[in-house]
Parts: sequence; structure tokens; C-alpha cells
Amino acid sequence: MELLFLGTGSGVPSKGRNVSAIALQLLEERGATWLFDCGEATQHQILHTSIRPRRIERIFITHLHGDHIFGLPGLLGSRSFQGGETPLFVYGPTGIHSFVETALAVSGTRLKYDLHIHEFTEGVIFEDEQFIVTAKLLDHGLPSYGFRIVEKDLPGTLLVDQLRALGVRPGPIYQQIKRGELVTLDDGTVIDGRNFVAPPKKGRIVAIIGDTRYCEASVELAKQADVLVHEATFRAKEAHLAHDYYHSTTLQAAEVAKRAEVKQLILTHISSRYQGEMCDELVEEAKTIFPNVSLAFDFSSFPVLKKSAE
Ligand SMILES: [Zn+2]
Ligand SMILES: [Zn+2]
Repeated sequence: MELLFLGTGSGVPSKGRNVSAIALQLLEERGATWLFDCGEATQHQILHTSIRPRRIERIFITHLHGDHIFGLPGLLGSRSFQGGETPLFVYGPTGIHSFVETALAVSGTRLKYDLHIHEFTEGVIFEDEQFIVTAKLLDHGLPSYGFRIVEKDLPGTLLVDQLRALGVRPGPIYQQIKRGELVTLDDGTVIDGRNFVAPPKKGRIVAIIGDTRYCEASVELAKQADVLVHEATFRAKEAHLAHDYYHSTTLQAAEVAKRAEVKQLILTHISSRYQGEMCDELVEEAKTIFPNVSLAFDFSSFPVLKKSAE
């Protein structure tokens, strides 16, 4: 699991930063990439990475401002042109359906794969045996959402060495043991399967927050997350601008991280007014409140490490 930032600037693209898009690489977990937002030229950014458009399985849109969605129709079309045949699921606020359908229809774009577009409000927007994704409304000029991506706990592995030491050979009996059943061995000994399975591994939690002012919903979404991705469009001194434009400052992002007790904070959606050393200052500001802060640049990647058994 890895976060790969494709665009980290706010509003309009600059030479240094493209507009918003983040890839959550789930190659080991499910051979897939999930995208969060898809600003203009996201597909160009993807060309500089190892991401394969046909591996993109789900696209989650935080809100409908252009810097978060104008790259979507192009990417959807290219995915088809480049041989993508597996279904693609797009999740976004009300309006995403007509935006995508209209762009594809008027441009005569026909997709060779099934496109499923889900308009969501709050709550669980996706769940399978591996992951659950919930959304909450934030505080922005348009309805903007944050996502909490929770990996379900992974079952503990079978303690094969200990079984072998007892002379238990691999076979269907291993399945019974793994289920934690009481099992009678050939010599009549009864063993308790639960003693031969390692504790379950805790799944990871990633929170990706869309454009927003400082708000409670961000804290709730990020509770004890391994990684929180939060916008920091402005530095602390420009709190008035952040408020007027419905964005956050470095300090506000750090405050969310602290209150939510996350392990790591990554700042993104950075105004083009901050360049070079000023970016270091943004990080230093945030660190006055929360220690483990990084600032994302285009193509920055951050592994989301597996947890050891707890
Ligand atoms: Zn934005
Ligand atoms: Zn916005």
C-alpha cells in the first residue's frame, strides 16, 4: 500500500505542481490502483509513473471543483483506448454523473468497459471483504467530502513450525486448525486450533480529506489513522484567506492530525505562492503542533506500512 501524489497544487496548475490527484496503490493487496480526485492532466502525470490506467479500479472524487475533476473524461477515454476492459467505479457527489456522461456523450467517446458512477452523500460508500470506505461532508464552497479508507483486519497466519514440531503434516486438517477448531490427531491427542494461529494483523487506515476549512468531520474521519492526507492551501499567517476561500492552513491541518491522534500527516493542495524554502516553512509551522509531518510534491510517494501483530 502506497500513496503516490500526482498533483499537489491548489486551484490552477503551476510549473511546479499540477492540480489535485492522489493514487492509492494497492498492488500487493488487490492488484489495483485507486485514485482520489482527477484534476486536469492527471493522465499526463500518470505517464511519469508506473501506474497503468487499466489497473485503475476505483476513482473517488472529493468535490466537483474543476481542479479536482477536469481530468476525468480524458482519463476515462484513454483507459479504454489503451485496452482497459475491466469495470471502473467512480464515486462522487451529486452532479458527477451528469458531468461524466455529458462529457463522454458530446465527445462521442465510447468506452469498452463498464463504467459505474455512484453519487454518494455521507456514510459507507464502498465495502468488500478487504476494505471499507466511508465519506463525510466537510466545509467548503461546494459540497466537499473526506474519505476514511479502512483495511479490514487480516486473519492470523497458521503457526506451521509449531504444528510440524508436533508431527502434524499439511492437509485438510490445517484448515480446521486455522478455523480454531478442536482437532484430534492420529495418536488421539486433542489440540486447540486457536493455539496455533497467530493473532490477526490490524488493517491500516488512511484518511484523505478534500478541500475544506478546519472542521470536526475531518477529525472524525482521521481518528487514529496511519496516514492523514489534509489540504494546507495557506500558511498560518493567511488564516483569513483560508477562511474566506473555504480552505485550511498548515496549523489547522496539524490540529486535525493531533486531535485525531494519527501517526503521520501529509500536507497537499499547496498554493503556488509558496515555493522553494517557503515549503520548508510550511512544514515547520505544522510541526509546532504535530511532529510527524511531510509536505507532498508531485510524484512524492509514501508507503503505508503494514502493522506488526498486536
Ligand atoms: Zn481544490
Ligand atoms: Zn475546492
